[in-house]
Amino acid sequence: MTFIEALSSENLDRIRSFPKADLHNHFVLGGSREYIFNKTGYKITPISSPLKSMSEMDSWSSKYIGNRFNGPEGRKLLIEATFAQAKFDGVSVLEIGEDVWGLSEFFNNDIEELVYSFQEANYKIAPEIELRLQIGLSRHCPIDYLMDCLMHFWGHKEFYSIDLYGDELAQPIENFIPIYEKAAENGLVLKAHIGEWGTAQDIVTAVKALHLDEVQHGIAAVQDEDVVDFLVENDIRLNITPSSNVLLGRVPDMADHPIAQLYRKGVNVTINSDDVLIFDSDVSKEYLRLYKSGCLTKEELDDIRLNGLNI
Ligand SMILES: [Zn+2]
Repeated sequence: MTFIEALSSENLDRIRSFPKADLHNHFVLGGSREYIFNKTGYKITPISSPLKSMSEMDSWSSKYIGNRFNGPEGRKLLIEATFAQAKFDGVSVLEIGEDVWGLSEFFNNDIEELVYSFQEANYKIAPEIELRLQIGLSRHCPIDYLMDCLMHFWGHKEFYSIDLYGDELAQPIENFIPIYEKAAENGLVLKAHIGEWGTAQDIVTAVKALHLDEVQHGIAAVQDEDVVDFLVENDIRLNITPSSNVLLGRVPDMADHPIAQLYRKGVNVTINSDDVLIFDSDVSKEYLRLYKSGCLTKEELDDIRLNGLNI
């Protein structure tokens, strides 16, 4: 059976059995519900209807996650749960990492321990998965503070990429230029969350200012033909998370998700989970939902899957 046939038959288990990439996954919310339940007896329920704001998402997080997993052991459990989820989902390339502030909070300022926690979980739960370790930044943090935290990260070759997330409107993107210059010197793949809450023009501004290789979301691009052309010409990849976009009210429904238009205009797109625990959005489900809604054809979805794997 091929992936295309698995989609045709709408068989989720079959879809799971094919390799796929998850290049937009916040591991704290990326774990397997079942794994967490088996280890802690604690049930985490996803949201079922769209949220009206980011603050509603924050209250979901404080209710279900809160301080419950703080400390090195809790953090390690969430990392393991994310590998367990990815394994179940058939993810073969997983890009996840820690927030820079997490280093002192959860790993005693010991960068080796942080790196080892991810590698150990990778080895223990799913050694067949290729881990792409990411450095995560919150957009609301002061630049000096981020720079201080990052001192521990620079020069560690285990890191693959850097990503910026949190409130997209918190501060001007230009503030992050010194950080991204340093990240480029360190050979990291440069990514940022742009064009989820912001405008199409914000995407161009950010890509130019930070020399981004990839954009997390970037769906606002669809509103401006010139921005779509810019993304195609510069081969900027958009790592898109459809269920998250629907449930955060960024797009009206799955059938009309802009991924179809962006893909058909030649933009490099991938399909990802974002936050499995909150959006019930594993990667296989995302493919099936896009297919069942009629947003993309099964052939297009297979092409996007292979693109994510660089095949
Ligand atoms: Zn995200």
